[in-house]
Amino acid sequence: MKLSRLMGIVAMVLLSTQHLLAQQPKPKRIVFLIGDGMGLAQISGAMYGYTGQNAFARFTVIGLSNTSSSDHYITDSGAGATAFSIGKKTFNRAIGVAHDSTPYPTLFELAKKKGYSTGLAVTSSIVHATPASFYAHVINRKMYDSIAMFLLNGSVDIAIGGGTDFVTNRKDGRNLAAMLKQSGFEVISDSVLVNIAAKRYIYLLAPDELPKMEKGRGDLLKQASLQAAKNLSSNKNGYLLMIEGSQIDWGGHENSFSYMAAELRDFNEVINAFLDMAEKDKEMLVIVTADHETGGLTLNEGGTSQTFRPKFSTGDHTGIMVPVFAFGAGAEFFGGMYENTEIFTKIVQLLQLK
Ligand code: MG
Ligand code: ZN
Repeated sequence: MKLSRLMGIVAMVLLSTQHLLAQQPKPKRIVFLIGDGMGLAQISGAMYGYTGQNAFARFTVIGLSNTSSSDHYITDSGAGATAFSIGKKTFNRAIGVAHDSTPYPTLFELAKKKGYSTGLAVTSSIVHATPASFYAHVINRKMYDSIAMFLLNGSVDIAIGGGTDFVTNRKDGRNLAAMLKQSGFEVISDSVLVNIAAKRYIYLLAPDELPKMEKGRGDLLKQASLQAAKNLSSNKNGYLLMIEGSQIDWGGHENSFSYMAAELRDFNEVINAFLDMAEKDKEMLVIVTADHETGGLTLNEGGTSQTFRPKFSTGDHTGIMVPVFAFGAGAEFFGGMYENTEIFTKIVQLLQLK
């Protein structure tokens, strides 16, 4: 008797939760920000003593993502981003293919089919593992020339980052820029970003990766991200924009706290810009997470009060869970603890991609 009454209450709560979720506004615009190698110690350390606004403190929903790949407890960025982009655990170094090397449609490909526009802005080259996973299907992330050819399949409307070496200035001599222009893209190579009105373009800011923050990159990632968002917003159906703080990971690999922190603080300002936007745009969802942690960073006692001494325990990635931050329409879906592949599932559900 008591138990059945309890069950009844549980059922009512569950039903009302479902009802609540069904009532939530669905996002039309999703901005998915990936801090490569950005674990909690990176966020804590980089934001310590930062005088600007801490974007991470502005989120209303926080979750935890388990980052392991199909063949290793510790993922690389190929398998990590592929988990987000196709929703399947795969082997390290894979791009847009499952553990048996079968290609599966990416979020960008699914989004395009449903009438959304897609874009990416990164501080690596646009063919590097993280961005590549959203539009290419290859078994090894280092196949940069092959990855670049996938830009022709049309699943990316806008790409901003480095990479003239793989588009306009290729080792194999193929003129991918000309092919892209033929299929309706503008292709721009410049070290600065100038305002552009095109709906589809590849904007290449460097031969390979962009300069480090410590070498004077300034707010180029924020500029690139806002430029992409502005162009994508001409599609009233909505868009999916992926932004990567690519070099947070590289600071970790180098065990350079200052490199990592400068990249993360830059990424923080990009997040702030989109949170400002999402506070006004009730059909926007901002998601921030990492593909994995890099460097096994700990923040040890600094000796004097209120300071810390950063210490890396490896030059590689680690298997610790990473945080997921969500704000805006559909943010509730991102609370809890789940596999990295669930982020794909949640975006698919929210944008009704399947
Ligand atoms: Mg990356
Ligand atoms: Zn890495």
